[in-house]
Amino acid sequence: MENEKNIHFIEEIIREDLASGKVKQIHTRFPPEPNGYLHIGHAKSIVLNFGLAEKYGGLTNLRFDDTNPTTEETEYVESIKYDIRWLGYDWGDREYYTSDYFEKLYEFAEKLIKKGKAYVDDSTAEEIAAMKGTPTEPGVESPYRNRSVEENLDLFRRMRAGEFPDGARVLRAKIDMASPNMHLRDPLMYRIKHEHHHRTGDAWCIYPMYDFAHGQSDSIEQITHSLCTLEFENHRPLYDWFIRELEIYPSRQIEFARLNLDYTVMSKRRLLQLVTEGHVKGWDDPRMPTLSGMRRRGYSPEAIRSFCEHIGIAKRENIIELSLLEHFVRQDLNKRAKRLMVVLNPLKLVITNYPEGQTEMMSTINNPEDEAMGTRQMPFGKYLYIEREDFMEDPPKKFFRLGPGRHVRLKNAYIVRCDDYVKNDKGEPVEVHCTYFPNSRSGADTSGIKAKGTLHWVAVEQAVPVEVRLYDRLFSDPNPMGHKDRDFKEFINPDSLTVIPRAMAEPAVREVKAAEYLQFLRKGYFFMDPDSRSDQLVFNRTVSLKDAWSKIQARKK
Ligand code: ATP
Ligand code: MG
Repeated sequence: MENEKNIHFIEEIIREDLASGKVKQIHTRFPPEPNGYLHIGHAKSIVLNFGLAEKYGGLTNLRFDDTNPTTEETEYVESIKYDIRWLGYDWGDREYYTSDYFEKLYEFAEKLIKKGKAYVDDSTAEEIAAMKGTPTEPGVESPYRNRSVEENLDLFRRMRAGEFPDGARVLRAKIDMASPNMHLRDPLMYRIKHEHHHRTGDAWCIYPMYDFAHGQSDSIEQITHSLCTLEFENHRPLYDWFIRELEIYPSRQIEFARLNLDYTVMSKRRLLQLVTEGHVKGWDDPRMPTLSGMRRRGYSPEAIRSFCEHIGIAKRENIIELSLLEHFVRQDLNKRAKRLMVVLNPLKLVITNYPEGQTEMMSTINNPEDEAMGTRQMPFGKYLYIEREDFMEDPPKKFFRLGPGRHVRLKNAYIVRCDDYVKNDKGEPVEVHCTYFPNSRSGADTSGIKAKGTLHWVAVEQAVPVEVRLYDRLFSDPNPMGHKDRDFKEFINPDSLTVIPRAMAEPAVREVKAAEYLQFLRKGYFFMDPDSRSDQLVFNRTVSLKDAWSKIQARKK
């Protein structure tokens, strides 16, 4: 939405409606059902609804669509509010609940009954389904369809009064059992459910169906543009029918394609399964596509917003690559992440000609992309840790790291040459012996020696052991839902989490604050996990440094 070229069809409609004076001020809403935590798909809807209102001087309501007493919980309401604020949006004092409209919706239902447009049906759910017909065959009218207004009113009032058990009766709209649109074949408006509701308690034992609640709530709030995902396109004639028959404010429903991402699932019902069956540690597990999971992993709200704005709004379903989202995360973190040196898989390096017991402080910039982030001091000494994979006994020619006789620069310090190494009884290198060149210090190098590679390192004496958690995709299949007769959980990636219990970090790691974005040099972007304690710091890898998506794009050009 950031430039004129990116104006999408919904924005065009809004511009026309404002230009023609059809609406004076746009008013959108974000209507989550509080039956789970928000995921990245919801972020797309939030950015769309709040973003359009911000851009065109309008308002956005937060409305909890809480018509189903069975699945809704206060914990979800709180998490949803937290996530929307975290993304950077504000609904002011416009926090609404569909359940606040139960009385009003009930009045609407009576109004339709009195107009002869709704009736109480005593048929069972199975009978109603059997009479519904198919898309190619008309349905059959219920034997209760032609009850008198008086009888319908009486029965509906007694439904409300709790005289009947669950499932005994329903209220239906009287529209057209032969309509080619199945949603117009006398859709259900109310069902009996003797259940406790998280807000209305036991005040109600009849609850409105989504189709009778959503549009009416939009209308009550005078929502100008009610934006929803494509699966509601077929519901739109019903949405409009209720508004017309009730003669209430005509909100306009517009559908757009939902966000689908590869290598993940994006329905709260399935995410809940992952949580309750213990495939992940919780809704905010860093592998989850939830906003709380992404926050814990170290994605910034700015990166998520940029991603949502970039993918835009379309009328046709598509699948977006997870690597595109990661690309936006890297772009954002590159600008803001504080750099640190952390050796994930330590190998000891000894500088044989460096004085025993000597420590030098090396000045290091915190972020080459942002001078204002300043510098810090890093201790250097005779004994260092380097990354195990940065040393090879018999390296190929193109390996610009350490091997016998080879030179490398230790970042912000000296050039060293590998002279020798020590192996354990399993034949694995456990210590690398090097010579350093005293006049090769970074910034003042007069040594004339060339080193192609630069390695990160940490001084042994001052090293801080930290736990590091590396993540891979939660699913090993790009479309875990796309397999007939197979459960999506069969495609869970067994290697989605790797824990490194003792990585070695430079001492500045002790000053890292919660919610501070980090880059561990050459290893990726990292973020402190809430499991962290001052004597056991824990970091999540947000994303590696390799940007597969931008490489592919570069190749395409
Ligand atoms: P889920 O299938 O994950 O439970 P939902 O649509 O049932 O999603 P709601 O709480 O009803 O979840 O969604 C709130 C709003 O977010 C709705 O307007 C819905 O259209 C939108 N939304 C949900 N999922 C996506 C998605 N993947 N892409 C874009 N918008 C979405
Ligand atoms: Mg829903």
